[in-house]
Amino acid sequence: MAHGVGIFPEPINEPVNSFAPGTAQRDSLRRELDRQQGESVEAPLVIGGRAVRTGRIAEARVPHRHAHVLATVHQAGEAEVLAAIDAARVARAGWAAMSMQDRGAIFLRAADLLAGPWRDRLNAATMLNQSKTCHQAEIDAACELIDFFRFNVKYMERLIEQMQPDVSPRGTWNRVEARPLEGFVYAVTPFNFTSIAGNLPHAPALMGNTVIWKPSPHALHSNAMLMQLFEEAGLPPGVINFVPGDAEMVTRLVLSQRDFAGLHYTGSTAVFRSLWHKVGTNLDQYRDYPRLVGETGGKDFLIAHESADEDAVVTALIRGAYEFQGQKCSALSRAYLPRAMWERIRDRLVSEIGTVRMGDVADFGNFMGAVIHRQSFEKCKRYIEAARESSGSTILAGGGCDGREGWFVEPTLIEVADRAAPCLCEEIFGPVLSVHVYDGSFEEALALVDRTSPYGLTGAVFANDRRAIAAAAEALRYSAGNFYINDKPTGAVVGQQPFGGARASGTNDKAGSALNLLRWTSARTIKENFDPPRDYRMPYMG
Ligand code: NAD
Repeated sequence: MAHGVGIFPEPINEPVNSFAPGTAQRDSLRRELDRQQGESVEAPLVIGGRAVRTGRIAEARVPHRHAHVLATVHQAGEAEVLAAIDAARVARAGWAAMSMQDRGAIFLRAADLLAGPWRDRLNAATMLNQSKTCHQAEIDAACELIDFFRFNVKYMERLIEQMQPDVSPRGTWNRVEARPLEGFVYAVTPFNFTSIAGNLPHAPALMGNTVIWKPSPHALHSNAMLMQLFEEAGLPPGVINFVPGDAEMVTRLVLSQRDFAGLHYTGSTAVFRSLWHKVGTNLDQYRDYPRLVGETGGKDFLIAHESADEDAVVTALIRGAYEFQGQKCSALSRAYLPRAMWERIRDRLVSEIGTVRMGDVADFGNFMGAVIHRQSFEKCKRYIEAARESSGSTILAGGGCDGREGWFVEPTLIEVADRAAPCLCEEIFGPVLSVHVYDGSFEEALALVDRTSPYGLTGAVFANDRRAIAAAAEALRYSAGNFYINDKPTGAVVGQQPFGGARASGTNDKAGSALNLLRWTSARTIKENFDPPRDYRMPYMG
């Protein structure tokens, strides 16, 4: 890392290991996978820096081999949730008083530990717990999380600098203090990215807040390991409290506290809306107006203009829709292609999809693993069955689902004539791509993309004609918070494409940017007068 003019080092993105055959990284990751597959660990809650074992156990299973229990993780009851809230309260004063440099140093250390000795551990845990290939785990659990830690530290420094007033007339000193919120923050995290599980408690903590972290029940093994990383990096007790448990119970207790000051949430839209409603109902009992930050669902699109590069479109369709089994909030799930292009690329696309290998992620030849759990498997199956039964839809590739050993859903391609069909409008969150072939103008297709789904997360336009690109950028201005031109709509990188969407996709506070950190601070303006007046009379009074 280069050192710029500021306090903290200038961050650069963590390089991505290829794990190509013959590399040392591949061998070492394999050894760690074997080690973790050969043992079953037991993970505690962490409250005020203490490991707490309740004896109420949840199992972390391997989605591609669901009989295999990777870890057992203790679950909070009401007493533990209340103890965690107390621990966050007790830790708050000391943490809020700690300097920005000291807080930042802890997360820079976490980044270096993760880039080094923890890399294989967290990658292997993410591969097994969330059924990610080595590449998908590396860009998530290693690179993106390291980037969140390093870039956020720098963004904090710049944000505090930019908050400062422009003018302090002679005799006065004006400044703005970045106070942490007056209370604690509740971080509720999704299964699909270990990096998000780390970022949601980390970002408010970096800004001086203490946090109750409720992890996803479907990523308990990797998330419990992440909590150990925070501790090894030197995070003081009580700053982040790891509280897995029944989501409704934990949430009810947390949201009923007077000093609940903020929610940092990522997950489905319906859950975020229900949390917002609960906060609204409890509003009168809070000290402050809680900050509500939520990144939620998506129905991400690709639209091609007839001038587009067809090979690039085919590749973007496959990578955008099927990497990590379509379980990225940014995953491509609906595409709009002009008929003439469709006639030319359809067979190639179908045959390319036929080459995609799916199976155990410990076999590095596989491009896809399993979907996360039975509910997700059944949901994909329902949409595929509905398409099979609908006269306006044709399943062109995949469509098979086999849940005997693991939750495997084949990469599926559906051609859909009905522009309002559920698989074109609703989030499926699996490897199911719906294609609508348009016969009318590009402009009509743009209007269709914009109005078809309530979401506004990611989207892509493919075109070589610059007028088409400009028309798409204008017509789809609010259809996506992350908009891609001639690129797939997935794979945002911290420091390069700040991520988030509006409409039903969230509050668009852009994870991994200063915009997000701004939500975790409550500014105090301070004016100091070095030479205060000593007579109330004004000059005009003669
Ligand atoms: P989910 O909604 O099932 O769970 C998210 C979190 O909410 C989990 O911790 C869960 O335990 C908790 N939760 C569930 N019910 C709750 C309740 N009643 N009260 C309080 N908490 C509750 O989501 P998931 O399956 O883990 O993740 C997939 C979803 O996340 C998709 O919709 C995806 O689009 C979205 N996502 C969005 C982004 C983004 O940046 N926009 C990123 C990743 C995932």
